[in-house]
Amino acid sequence: MEKINSISFKGENSKKQKKNLKGSLASYAIGIITTKASLPVSYFAAKKMLKLSGSLNTDEKGILNAAVDNVLNNKTNLAKKGAVIKNTTNSPGGFLKNIILINRDDFPLSTFHEMGHAFNFNNSVFWKTMQKMRRAGTALTSLILFFVAFSKESKPQDGKELTKAQKFKNNLRKYSPALVAAAMLPTVLEEGMATLRGNKWAREVFEKTPKLAKKVSKTNKWGFISYCAMTAGIAFSAHIVRRIKDLSTAKKEGFAQFNSKMEAHQG
Ligand SMILES: [Zn+2]
Repeated sequence: MEKINSISFKGENSKKQKKNLKGSLASYAIGIITTKASLPVSYFAAKKMLKLSGSLNTDEKGILNAAVDNVLNNKTNLAKKGAVIKNTTNSPGGFLKNIILINRDDFPLSTFHEMGHAFNFNNSVFWKTMQKMRRAGTALTSLILFFVAFSKESKPQDGKELTKAQKFKNNLRKYSPALVAAAMLPTVLEEGMATLRGNKWAREVFEKTPKLAKKVSKTNKWGFISYCAMTAGIAFSAHIVRRIKDLSTAKKEGFAQFNSKMEAHQG
């Protein structure tokens, strides 16, 4: 008898899940769009960075280039470790292991921050690991959003308590905004560390031209703000996915209950 009950229960469940596939897809799609909520902040930050670098005159650009060489060759072991600077035109800059990507035309002030990444890669096992965790963090974030969209909250039925697995699943859904933010933490921390190193070198090499050191730290501040906004946007999207999916499930199940009552009444 118990077996029959569990079979019919499973059957009911899969029927409901099938019915709510639309809810899962809709919440996931809206969630993906919401992860882009920070784009206006990133755009604003990029504009500020562009303006700061654009304010450099020819003399200042010359001082900046010499200072970058100084950091690479004298202040740090970066040149010895094989770090090289390559030009990029389609991003504000970046890093890939020992390649420091610099947009010399539009974002030369970001060079110090990117050298900070190269220093993290070459001189610290901890920060190098954090760099490696960036991809894993992004993948984990997508996985959590997907899980929240394609699962539903377990509710105790017929006076029975929730199983450990059900409680775990409910908590995973409930704390998903904090979890995705935590998954982004290695990225944010490593970005922060690259910025702190870059700002420190800038203060040292621009001792006689503190205006330039200030421009470097302002540029780095805007870069960091856009990473924080991105993390907040992703956490917010986890919240939105759960809200939409839960509302859609409640609506579906409300209808299902209403229909079964009507059928019982007619019978
Ligand atoms: Zn960076």
